Amino acid sequence: MAAAWDLRRGGHQVVMYESADYVGGLASGFKEPGWDWSVEKFYHHWFASDKHMLGLINELGLSHKVRFPRPYTVVYHQGKFYPLDSVVKAILFPGLGWGVDKIRFGLVGLYLRLTTNWKSLERYTVDEWMRKWVGERVYKLMWEPLVIGKFGEKYYKQVNMAWMWARLHARTTRLGTFEGGFQAFADQFAEKLRAAGVRIELSTPVTHIQRNPSTNLLELATADGVQTADKVLVTLSPGAVAKMVPSLPKEYLEGLLRLKSMGAVVMVLALKQRLSQEGYYWYNIPKSAGFPFLAVVEHTNFVSPEHFGGDHIVYVGDYLEPEHEHFRLTHDELLQKFAPSLKRLNPGFEMDWVKKTWLFRTTYAQPVPLVNHSQNIPAIQTPMQGLYFASMSQVYPWDRGTNFAVEIGRRAARLMMEK
Ligand SMILES: Cc1cc2nc3c(=O)[nH]c(=O)nc-3n(C[C@H](O)[C@H](O)[C@H](O)COP(=O)(O)OP(=O)(O)OC[C@H]3O[C@@H](n4cnc5c(N)ncnc54)[C@H](O)[C@@H]3O)c2cc1C
Repeated sequence: MAAAWDLRRGGHQVVMYESADYVGGLASGFKEPGWDWSVEKFYHHWFASDKHMLGLINELGLSHKVRFPRPYTVVYHQGKFYPLDSVVKAILFPGLGWGVDKIRFGLVGLYLRLTTNWKSLERYTVDEWMRKWVGERVYKLMWEPLVIGKFGEKYYKQVNMAWMWARLHARTTRLGTFEGGFQAFADQFAEKLRAAGVRIELSTPVTHIQRNPSTNLLELATADGVQTADKVLVTLSPGAVAKMVPSLPKEYLEGLLRLKSMGAVVMVLALKQRLSQEGYYWYNIPKSAGFPFLAVVEHTNFVSPEHFGGDHIVYVGDYLEPEHEHFRLTHDELLQKFAPSLKRLNPGFEMDWVKKTWLFRTTYAQPVPLVNHSQNIPAIQTPMQGLYFASMSQVYPWDRGTNFAVEIGRRAARLMMEK
C-alpha cells in the first residue's frame, strides 16, 4: 500500500491485487457487533520510534488518530511476573540480584542501545555473543527465553546478534495504535489510495507471473483472466514468490527458498472479566515455565474495553514451525490446551469467563536471520525485468513490523520509478 501510494503520486497507473476480501494483510483486524474498534488478528502496536509509519500517517493527514498509551510489559521469574520495560524496573527486578550481573546487564543494554555498528554483530550468534558479554546466568535468565520463544529449539542458537541489536535499538516503552484499530487505519489508507486513483482489486489472488518476451510485459494470472503490467511489485513470503514465479533464474529462486521463517498461532479470547489483576498488557513467558504458549497479551489493558462493548480481549500466542501440532489441532482442542494455563496468571479465571474465541494461524510470521544474513537478502529488483519483490524477510537488520514494511515498500517504489 505504501508503494502504491508513492507510485501513484509519481504519476503511474497502479492496480493492487489482493487475495483477501479486505486490506491490511497480517496487520488486519476483525470486529464483532457491539465493538466500535476492531481487534488485530495478531497483536499489533507501533513504537514511538516507528518514523516511517508515523511519517506516512502524517502525510495521509491521519496523525490525530494515533494514540500512544503506556501499557505494562512483564517477564516471568520463579512463578511470578515482574514489570521490566524501563531502567528503573530493570534495577528493581529481583532475578538479577544486586551484584555484578545487574551491572553487566545494564552496560550491555546501554551498549546495544547506543552502538549503530550492527554489521559487526551479525557475525556472531545471540547465543555466543550474549554468553560472552552478559555472562551465562544473565543470558539464561533474560535473553535466552526470548530467542527460544521467537525461534524455537531448532533455530535459537543460530540467530545472529544484529537481530537482538535491532530489537533493543529501535523500541520504546510507549506503544502506539490507531483510533478504531489497525484495520481502521488500513481501510482509511485504502480509501485515500482509491481517491488518488489506485484500483484495488479485492478477492483477486494472483496465481502465476511470467514475462512475455514478445510484448516485454509481465503477465499475471488471476481468476479474472491474465492481466498485464510493465512493472510488478510482489509483497508475499519468499516461498510464495518462488511458487508464483517459477521462471525466475535458478540462483535467485534458491536464495528465496534458503530463507527461514517461523509461523504464528494466535488465539483471541473475549472475556467477561479482566484477566490481569495488576492491569498488565504483555506477559513474556519462557518456554521453560511450562505454559503451552509464549505470550499472553491483554489488549484491553492497552486499549480501553469500552471500545469492545465491555469485553476484555486477551491474545494467547506463540511462534512455531509450520510442522508444529498447533497448526493441525482444531480450534476447540487448542482452547482446551490453552485455557487452563490462564489460571496461573489469575487463579480466579474460570472457563465461563470466556464469551467467544477466534483462532488465527499463519505459516509466515517471523523471518529467521542466521549469521551474516545481510549477504543472503534477495534484491528488491529481481533478475526478471520489471519484477520487484519486497517482504518482511528483506527489512533486516530490523525485525519485521509495519514500520519497516512501509520503508521497504517506499524503497521499492523508488527503484521501480528509476529510469
Ligand atoms: C504475530 C505477529 C505479530 C506482529 N506484531 C506486529 C506489531 O506489533 N507491530 C507491527 O508494526 N508489526 C507487527 N507484525 C508485522 C506486520 O504484520 C508485518 O510487518 C506487515 O503486515 C507486513 O506487511 P506486508 O504488506 O509486507 O505483508 P502482509 O501483511 O503479509 O501482506 C501480504 C498481502 O498479500 C495478500 N496475498 C497473499 N497471497 C496473495 C496472492 N496470491 N495474490 C494476491 N494477494 C495475495 C495477503 O492476503 C496480504 O494481504 C506482526 C506480525 C505477526 C505475524
